[in-house]
Amino acid sequence: LTMGVPKEIKKNENRVGMTPAKVSELTRRGHKVLVESNAGAGSGFEDEDFAAMGATIVPTCVDVYQQADMIVKVKEPLAPEYTLIREGQVVFTYFHFASSKELTEAMIQNKSICISYETVAKSDGSLPLLIPMSEIAGRMSVQQGAKYLEAPMGGRGVLLGGVPGVRRGFVLVLGGGIVGTHAAKLAAGLGAEVTIMDLNLQRLRYLNDIMPANVETRYSNESTIRDLLRLADLVIGAVLIPGARAPKLVTREMLSIMRPGSVVIDVAVDQGGCIETCKATTHDEPTYVVDNVLHYCVANMPGAVPYTSTIALTNATLPYTIALAEKGWRRACADNAELKGGLNIIEGKVVHEGVASAFDLPY
Ligand code: NAD
Repeated sequence: LTMGVPKEIKKNENRVGMTPAKVSELTRRGHKVLVESNAGAGSGFEDEDFAAMGATIVPTCVDVYQQADMIVKVKEPLAPEYTLIREGQVVFTYFHFASSKELTEAMIQNKSICISYETVAKSDGSLPLLIPMSEIAGRMSVQQGAKYLEAPMGGRGVLLGGVPGVRRGFVLVLGGGIVGTHAAKLAAGLGAEVTIMDLNLQRLRYLNDIMPANVETRYSNESTIRDLLRLADLVIGAVLIPGARAPKLVTREMLSIMRPGSVVIDVAVDQGGCIETCKATTHDEPTYVVDNVLHYCVANMPGAVPYTSTIALTNATLPYTIALAEKGWRRACADNAELKGGLNIIEGKVVHEGVASAFDLPY
């Protein structure tokens, strides 16, 4: 099979669909991998690194789309890519169809086979190709929080770990899933005092078992959140109710409980955010202030650490990419229910209930 890796064209997207190490896993199995020149530069991978692993470097994305049987990328195709994708071509990437009717219609029209990273699902309901991004966003949230707590960045001038003789910073993490767990772990590692909240008692028991002594678990409810907001230097929003908008756990009125210069990082911004005053921001202008509380609500946090993100994402996609290359999409999806869950549109037909119901399309 010929695989194609184009350069991402979305603004500020520096990740790439395959690393040189992943290319070598495919070329040594006898597949051909075409990589657009400069595709990996944003993640720190040069053309020569890919070529050394057996990739063929081609000058433009047109070459990639014309020659490849299967495209492996990161972000959803944008308008200039819609017509480059050919009938019968497999496209394996994040599509997030439900958020774009234009994209959905374009992929129906070009009759490609669209396999979405975000709907590949394990039998326990977990989403193996989203988990790495949550891990990154969770860890990054503390790094960003620590930075914005510094006075020159607009924060209240608190060092999260404290020093001998000085109280350490207090971090409140709302939601103890993947993002929350990684945030709590990092904050604890910095020496902060951490409280992590969830509604799921099973999850709280697990967190209580694995977290160090400076992490406390609390059941999530409004009155406890109010109590803890009084103490919090940094609040991290990490709740998720699958398929629904995030519940507003911190209202605008509750911000007044927090001290001026405190920081909120709402990682759940892609589901509307769990802090009422959250509105999506970008890496170009990540923060804004409401009622003296600094807000950071970047919708694509992993985009800021493309080297780590690319490797983490491709570690997770590689086994599926190999299965698709070795067996072809029909057999690979028939043999593997996880991968089958990724099928969203096949040759003009929507085959995923979520995508169909988003736009009232036949399914
Ligand atoms: P997850 O499903 O692993 O965890 C969510 C947790 O929230 C669950 O444990 C759930 O029990 C808990 N929860 C639900 N309602 C709650 C409530 N009222 N109070 C306290 N806890 C509650 O999800 P995740 O992978 O950790 O993702 C969290 C959010 O972060 C999602 O919206 C995800 O899309 C988003 N995310 C954003 C970025 C970004 O760049 N901004 C990156 C990755 C993930």
